[in-house]
Amino acid sequence: MELRKDPITRSWVMTGDESFEPSPPPDAPCRFCADSNLHVIAKSPDNPGAGWSARSVVHPRPLYHIEGEPGRRGDGLYDRMHSVGAHEVLVENPNHDRHLWKANDEEIAHFLRLAAERILDLKRDPRIKYVSLFKDYGKNAGQEFSHPTSQLTATTFVPRRVLYELRAGREYFVGKERCAFCDIIQQEERQAQRVIEVRGDYLALGPYAPRVPYETWILPRNHDSSFERTGLNKPGLRINLAALLRRTLQRVRSVTEDFHLVLHTSPSSLHPSKNLGYWKTIDDDYHWHIEILPVVPSKAKSYNFKEVYYSPVSSETAVKQLRDAKIEG
Ligand SMILES: [Zn+2]
Ligand SMILES: [Zn+2]
Ligand SMILES: [Zn+2]
Repeated sequence: MELRKDPITRSWVMTGDESFEPSPPPDAPCRFCADSNLHVIAKSPDNPGAGWSARSVVHPRPLYHIEGEPGRRGDGLYDRMHSVGAHEVLVENPNHDRHLWKANDEEIAHFLRLAAERILDLKRDPRIKYVSLFKDYGKNAGQEFSHPTSQLTATTFVPRRVLYELRAGREYFVGKERCAFCDIIQQEERQAQRVIEVRGDYLALGPYAPRVPYETWILPRNHDSSFERTGLNKPGLRINLAALLRRTLQRVRSVTEDFHLVLHTSPSSLHPSKNLGYWKTIDDDYHWHIEILPVVPSKAKSYNFKEVYYSPVSSETAVKQLRDAKIEG
């Protein structure tokens, strides 16, 4: 597999002829419970009486490999490079059925701290430009392991959606000298139509223009470009974020089991790019957040090819329903 850049949209894609390895039989013991043959990279401090609390291991079938140089090169007008980077599984909890919406806030905060540590550590590698944290849950969302896990990829490029956000955030900042996300938060709190819940310094809202029904964002209410900075420095904040994440996932699960979750945080600032000036004001113009994209069976599947997002439930209706969902804890 290699990375190729679409010269028109400037998006990197991973392509090649993959040799498909058979996945383990469904009744095979869980590799994250069984503890065997796992290459553990880092772990959270142990929970009293509960052994380890969260840990990061090398993905058993990594998309990116840590050895080597990206070897970015031209191919006529095209660009290609090797899939150099890192691919880790973050085991959120030692217990096989303690998912983020069932765990307690301390456990979730441990996981958030570990995620922040891993992102910070991988960003120190001069080859790495961006670290993505994501979770796919449910059959229709491409869930890979039954154990409570998220995944992390460190890449030599900034993924497309984040790049759009970085460019747009910078343009907004150039025009207004304000952060677009801070302005969104202020307006949403004022209008109170699409706010799902406020928890201390964090809020969950339904975006004005959702890509899918019940799309939900979690953001810090105070400006901050980097999740990993908050995640490491402010334990009190981490507990509020943990609680809001847990409660928001419970709300989403009142609508559907399946969802994608992705963290958007600032790229590595070790790479001041000459042709992309957004790195200069990044601490002012970007604002980290978590996006949750529920997978809801849709009437309009044929339109769902992502050229134009089609979301047949308005954010206002979705937010009412999510706000009223029954939450435990
Ligand atoms: Zn397990
Ligand atoms: Zn902001
Ligand atoms: Zn985003």
